[in-house]
Amino acid sequence: MFEGLLGQEFIKRTLSEAVSSGKTGHAYLFCGPDGIGRKSFAKEFARGVMCTGAAAENAPCGVCRACRLAAAETNPDVQIIRGDENRATLGVEVVRQLEEDIATAPTVSARKVYIIDRGEKLTVQAQNALLKTIEEPPEYVMLVIVCSNPALLIDTVRSRVTRLDFARYSREEVLEAYRRSGGETSEESEEFIVSYADGIIGRALQLKDFGLYGTLRERILDTLLMLKKSQGRFLTGFTELFTDKDSAANKDYMFFELTSFVRDAALFARLGDPAALQNTHFQNKIEELAEVTGRHGWEKILDAVNSAYRLAGQNVNYRMVTVNLAAAIIEAVRN
Ligand SMILES: [Zn+2]
Repeated sequence: MFEGLLGQEFIKRTLSEAVSSGKTGHAYLFCGPDGIGRKSFAKEFARGVMCTGAAAENAPCGVCRACRLAAAETNPDVQIIRGDENRATLGVEVVRQLEEDIATAPTVSARKVYIIDRGEKLTVQAQNALLKTIEEPPEYVMLVIVCSNPALLIDTVRSRVTRLDFARYSREEVLEAYRRSGGETSEESEEFIVSYADGIIGRALQLKDFGLYGTLRERILDTLLMLKKSQGRFLTGFTELFTDKDSAANKDYMFFELTSFVRDAALFARLGDPAALQNTHFQNKIEELAEVTGRHGWEKILDAVNSAYRLAGQNVNYRMVTVNLAAAIIEAVRN
């Protein structure tokens, strides 16, 4: 089991042993940041549980009907519950639907597995409704709740599930995952991939189209440099850059790079020493950028970027966030 997945040895061992001994629990909680691989592990775990091959220690066998259906992601006894992607919460109606489905016995294997994606979105009411299923499920039911913030789950749910925490990946694992998925690396891109990924493989994989990211990166710096010539042009340029299709689809990346350039400019304004810079490739431009305002101005800009990033992650009008951020940057430069 789990041959295709990197790392997380403790989790692999725990789940493989549960499958091969036939002693799987009824409810699991997979915790860790988005992109760490919780869903891939949950699906593979489900394959092992559902396999009807002769030898349990070889599950998933890959040849039985359950395994073949799982490979095509069409096993009717494995369901991934996401709710409505556009809604901020998973409400009680989602749990009601789940309960209805649970009432019917499995059709392919001996079990039914429900993977609840984004468990942190479950409302308290929904969690209370879910408790009944967690406490007294039909024998064939297994729940896996995937969650990035277990603090949002009520105590009664947390105390009744088997919790597994996913660890961040090492530098080598991140790079190996990146290469396995067909990405090419160079000395320069390795540094960048590792620091952007921050131990999360899913984040590294976002960067596979490095050409696109390289371009966006330079555009961010050039847009910041517009502050030297015209604040009006900066306001327009910044808003356009941050809200265009590629950027809006890659907010994490855009803010990561913006923060990194602003931090470098702040550092240079304070110390006047290029040795401290992160973006050594852009040293000249960063020195130029640092002159736009003093160290206090740069510190204000850094604060504004951080709070805009927090807002961008919430359900706030994204265009408004970028316009307000551009205005806050201009204000900090003027003072
Ligand atoms: Zn099988």
